[in-house]
Amino acid sequence: MAKAIGIDLGTTNSVIAVMEGGEPEVLVNSEGTRTTPSVVAFKEEQRLVGQVAKRQAVLNPSGTLFEVKRFIGRTWSEVQGEAERAPYEVVRGDDDGVRFVVGGDQYTPEEISAMVLRKMVDDASATLGETLTKAVVTVPAYFNNSQREATQNAGKIAGLEVLRIVNEPTAAALAYGLDKKGNETVLVFDLGGGTFDVSVLEVGDGVFEVRSTSGDTHLGGSDFDYAVVNWLADDFQKEYNVDLRKDKQALQRLIEAAEKAKIELSGLPETTISLPFIAMDPGSNAPLYLEKKLTRSTFEELIAPLLNRVREPVETALRDAKLSRGDVDEVILVGGSTRVPAVKKLVTEMLGKEPNQTVNPDEVVALGAAIQAGVLTGDVDDIVLLDVTPLSLGVETKGAVFTRLIDRNTTVPVRKSQTFTTAEHNQTGVEVHVLQGERDMALHNKSLGRFKLEGIPPMPASMPQIEITYDIDANGILSVTAKENSTSKEASITIQNTTTLSEDEVDRMVKEAEANAEGDREARELAEARNQLDALRLQAQRALEESEGVPEDQQTPVREAIETAEKAINDPNVTKDRYETLSQELAQALQTFQQAVAAASAASEADGAEAPEGADSDVDDEEVIDADFKPAG
Ligand code: ADP
Ligand code: MG
Repeated sequence: MAKAIGIDLGTTNSVIAVMEGGEPEVLVNSEGTRTTPSVVAFKEEQRLVGQVAKRQAVLNPSGTLFEVKRFIGRTWSEVQGEAERAPYEVVRGDDDGVRFVVGGDQYTPEEISAMVLRKMVDDASATLGETLTKAVVTVPAYFNNSQREATQNAGKIAGLEVLRIVNEPTAAALAYGLDKKGNETVLVFDLGGGTFDVSVLEVGDGVFEVRSTSGDTHLGGSDFDYAVVNWLADDFQKEYNVDLRKDKQALQRLIEAAEKAKIELSGLPETTISLPFIAMDPGSNAPLYLEKKLTRSTFEELIAPLLNRVREPVETALRDAKLSRGDVDEVILVGGSTRVPAVKKLVTEMLGKEPNQTVNPDEVVALGAAIQAGVLTGDVDDIVLLDVTPLSLGVETKGAVFTRLIDRNTTVPVRKSQTFTTAEHNQTGVEVHVLQGERDMALHNKSLGRFKLEGIPPMPASMPQIEITYDIDANGILSVTAKENSTSKEASITIQNTTTLSEDEVDRMVKEAEANAEGDREARELAEARNQLDALRLQAQRALEESEGVPEDQQTPVREAIETAEKAINDPNVTKDRYETLSQELAQALQTFQQAVAAASAASEADGAEAPEGADSDVDDEEVIDADFKPAG
């Protein structure tokens, strides 16, 4: 299968990775860097994406779209405040969505995100020398369905087949290899360029469950940059009486220099910022030169008020997960800004333990996405990341009906049982047909396998109790067991990879189910009406067999009704209404007959021989598996 990539479509930066020789690896872009700014700019008919777009941002504020992730999949009313903050024009779309307006043209957040995705995929395709089309894309854990769908659509617009949307903290935990350990509580601390997210996860046996999320949607590394910019500009203003922030070009240079200094201070105790010819002296008109030493401790003082803001979300996330900091087994750092030593120190102090730092924090999400992509394409087989079953799982019951045991989107691992019974008298075996899908009739769903349970002791129809259990373990492996209760005889089957359907396949199956819902319902109801008549027929037959000595003329109406029922059951042209009428007639005949039997036995003073069950008992809610099998009430 073709390679699938993992993409961290970040608010500030995006990263793309792929599995190479069993390990996830970040792919560099055409500029030779491992992260690509999530920025798109429109400038004189030109479209710029990534670093080149970021670099001209201050000079082209209305034409440079950044942090569009804040808008994706959201309605206008949800982001009005956000729109007001943006230096570019954001308007309400006809669909109450968001549009960016640049040079008279309108763009959706999906389209802009698609441009970022496209650049990254094109660059990666060039690096690998193969066309890449399949991807796993990550989103913040708190993204709602509409934000997730919009992200998926951005992928589609970029020409990608999005195999799955994965939560960023889940991807991070996967890259840290936490799936290979036992059950653990993990706190993911993600401080990026413009947002701060905390997530608490339960990880164990390949299952990643997000327990709580919190954060600050306006806190990140660019705030650190501005703290440095203001410090430099204030100082410069004091000395030369020039506010560099008022000159767009100077401001742009300041921002870039501040970010560079910040990054250097993650590794060095001090750095020098030098910006020659940053302004003109208003008095002498001589060029002014900015040169300033910034130590790590000064930087830490500058960002201290910002750092303090991470405390509350961490506490909230723990509280929402009903945990205290001592319950956290592992703290993992995500986001470029966690490289700031003061951030690491704060995390250690807040959580009382050293964070796990074995993976590069700005790459970890993309690496995890690449691993997940590898899992979905079969490149990685020693781990299976499971969260929910993508499609319903069930069994074929009488009349070729699909009877669900596990609904789609059920979190795994999961185990569900239901009791079924037989349709024929003295039936000694049943065939269990395991299916996956959303359609009402078995034939339209995907067959996963079948097996037989034999050795059922001869009993009247509807008497045996056959318990069917569907069990999906954390590795995505489905086991189906059928057990006959009176003998405890068992048979089972194991099916691998019930969850590795591509998102497309899932989409297709769900869409087909929706499109065919009406016809499927009719087919199912017809089968059910036929089954009900058949069950009554069997019950009536049994009643006849068990009632010796009842005068022939009293038996005749039931016998005739049974014959009519038999004919109808084998006639493909009979309607549901007709089956229902026949059922009523047969039930009526059976009831009259049973009353006669009861009267006869009372007369002969038989010792309370039990009258056969009422005609309408335990018929409605029983289903028969396959041609000869049904759920028991
Ligand atoms: P996002 O998830 O928002 O897209 P990232 O995780 O890529 O963002 O983080 C980007 C931020 O991380 C930027 O503000 C960048 O300056 C900062 N950053 C990257 N590397 C470092 C470093 N070594 N030290 C400090 N900050 C860094
Ligand atoms: Mg990020």
